[in-house]
Amino acid sequence: MSKRDYYDVLGITKSATQAEVKSAYRKLAIKYHPDKNPDNSEAEEKFKEAAEAYEILSNPEKRSNYDHYGFAGGGFGGGGQGGMNMDDIFSQFGDIFGGAAGQGSPFDSFFGGGGRSGGRRTSRGSNLRIRVKLTLEEIASGVEKKIKVNKNVSCKPCKGTGAKDGASFDKCTTCNGTGTVRRVTNTILGQMQTSSTCPTCDGTGNIISDKCDTCHGNGVHKGEETITINIPPGVTEGIQLSMAGKGNAAPHDGIPGDLIIVIDEVPHEILKREGINIIYDLYISFVDAALGTSVEVPTINGKAKIKIEPGTQAGKILRLKGKGVPEVNSYHKGDQLVYVNIWTPKTLSKEEKAQLEGLRESSNFKPQPRKGEKSFFERMKEYFD
Ligand SMILES: [Zn+2]
Ligand SMILES: [Zn+2]
Repeated sequence: MSKRDYYDVLGITKSATQAEVKSAYRKLAIKYHPDKNPDNSEAEEKFKEAAEAYEILSNPEKRSNYDHYGFAGGGFGGGGQGGMNMDDIFSQFGDIFGGAAGQGSPFDSFFGGGGRSGGRRTSRGSNLRIRVKLTLEEIASGVEKKIKVNKNVSCKPCKGTGAKDGASFDKCTTCNGTGTVRRVTNTILGQMQTSSTCPTCDGTGNIISDKCDTCHGNGVHKGEETITINIPPGVTEGIQLSMAGKGNAAPHDGIPGDLIIVIDEVPHEILKREGINIIYDLYISFVDAALGTSVEVPTINGKAKIKIEPGTQAGKILRLKGKGVPEVNSYHKGDQLVYVNIWTPKTLSKEEKAQLEGLRESSNFKPQPRKGEKSFFERMKEYFD
């Protein structure tokens, strides 16, 4: 099978920019990724073909050689099988999918989180889901949690291989130790050679001759691990954080699954969270509302003093700027909103009654319509829009 032009492979023109090369390859890598196309050797070939084209065209020097001399100028020689193996290809992903895997890239889910490195590893551990309870204070400041997780751990004595001492292997006879099996099929275009992962050895090239006593050949066993989880400030109930490679270990030294952390918000006794704002219901006496005073209110980080102006009406909302919850991944912080309620006495002594009776007819005590003032609804809307 003769090689296709690298530009054709990526579906771009000779004048494509580096960004276009990258984006074209990213699309193909996603489309033909083996995790998405298990046991599809055609997809695997396409995947390799695209990787090889990217390897050349993303490198200005190699690209220029290829432009001038064709395949003879590139690094992979002409014809035959592609020159890149899967490990080379997966190691490219750090470049095109950005940084360490598992940092929230949308590709993580099917690129196996921790990426692939070293050895022909094909098995994958399952993802693990845990719930973490957080108080409002912890959510506001962000918190580091050390959590003991029961999970499949890689077996130490055999280094996760399942073979006694990590070394009791025989060469796989199905694939002769290569980890891949080739199949030649006849098509109208002539013979086509395809290769796929060896089913006998799962692509490792080895079969276990003597099983490890600890894990009985699995390479993993039940265990526990204390995992440090850094929870950023501002998370919300039900949000899921993912830690690549911290889930169940995979049999036979494969790729560990991810740890999915589901946030459980423990409701605060007196403060109510509303998005990034905190709401506090304050009660003051009718006397304090009339004369003015200064009160202490609880916040998520200690007490705060606020001033009540003389003549404060019920329903007034006071704002403590920046005393709310931060937005995730942002410097923006919410406020604490103090909703002022006026406490009406439920029982009165004879003397108190007499005093109030004396005030009943005073014109200052007659309710006056709040002309020009915003309604409660309008004021609430201002804070939450
Ligand atoms: Zn094999
Ligand atoms: Zn073992």
